[in-house]
Amino acid sequence: MTKASQLEAKTVSEAGKSHLVNGNKSSEHEPTFRRRHVLDLDDFSVDEINAVLQNANAMKEVLQRDIKKVPTLRGKSVITLFYENSTRTRVSFEQAGKILSADVINVSNSGSSAEKGESLYNTALTLQAMNADIIVVRHPDSGAPHFLSRFLDASVINAGDGLHAHPTQSLLDMYTIKEYLGEIAGLKVVIVGDMLYSRVARSNLWGLTKMGANIVLCGPPTLMPTDFINGGKDMEGHPFSAVTIEPNLEKALEGADVIMTLRLQLERQRAGHLPTLREYSKIYGINQKRLDLAKPGALVMHPGPMNEGVEIDSEVAHGARSVIEAQVTNGVAIRMALLYSVVTPGRESI
Ligand code: ASP
Ligand code: ASP
Repeated sequence: MTKASQLEAKTVSEAGKSHLVNGNKSSEHEPTFRRRHVLDLDDFSVDEINAVLQNANAMKEVLQRDIKKVPTLRGKSVITLFYENSTRTRVSFEQAGKILSADVINVSNSGSSAEKGESLYNTALTLQAMNADIIVVRHPDSGAPHFLSRFLDASVINAGDGLHAHPTQSLLDMYTIKEYLGEIAGLKVVIVGDMLYSRVARSNLWGLTKMGANIVLCGPPTLMPTDFINGGKDMEGHPFSAVTIEPNLEKALEGADVIMTLRLQLERQRAGHLPTLREYSKIYGINQKRLDLAKPGALVMHPGPMNEGVEIDSEVAHGARSVIEAQVTNGVAIRMALLYSVVTPGRESI
């Protein structure tokens, strides 16, 4: 932890540290995660989220060893099926699988039969015929992982689908917040930027509100999925009742515990949603002066990849309050925890 030197990560909790990776289960910390697929967090219970975060603690301990290898998933196979470009998410799943001794096979859009016109359905059936235990899928169409989960025997983990969801990113974000700030409940988390095109924001809205955070969304009104948020708010007891929209960034940042900046998804932008990048950066960019409005111990997060100088200044991205590198490391621990959990015997088919 070089960058975030002024921040202190809480010591990885002893809870649940060793039984997962050493194989000797302790009934005290029996994980309550029983699902076969990880598609989004909208139907996760708080208990299930906590189980993943707790299992990730054990996995993080493995990451800190000199020899990062445990036999937990020996004999299991993981196929990563990426129809959209990705560096960190794909590598992170691959690393997670290899540390757990699974056989990991990467399939990407370019060079695969998908380029020759094979349908997702047929590709998935082919992979299934190879007896894959887990298929990790990223797809530009929202709902593709749900579609696969309906007919595959393998577990399906969503690594990002269209504008819909990116559950593993939200879980690693929640893990990082807990690691540095201890708790999530009661925190003011400000999510800044392009909400409309962000599957990271959508999954975090579900995850963080379920865990009791107060979320403030700030971004251009043209990039705010107001219907999605207000539709939930209107339902009694819905977690989105803890979400507010504040168009003024200075006001939004006052007293924030966590600032989550989103990448401006230039590749998804349709004309007309933004005046210019310069203007966007002037109104919504996180710089040091704006950071000073948040609490002194506030965390700065970003799911990556960053457009430095657009949504976030370099000095903030690499500054003392940034936990962006920790997010990447924690991403491996979270993905290890999920790979482990979905193939654990005793799970129900959810
Ligand atoms: N959107 C990509 C991802 O999270 C970006 C990257 O990989 O660098 O996987
Ligand atoms: N890496 C994240 C994703 O795939 C965020 C981003 O690409 O902006 O959604």
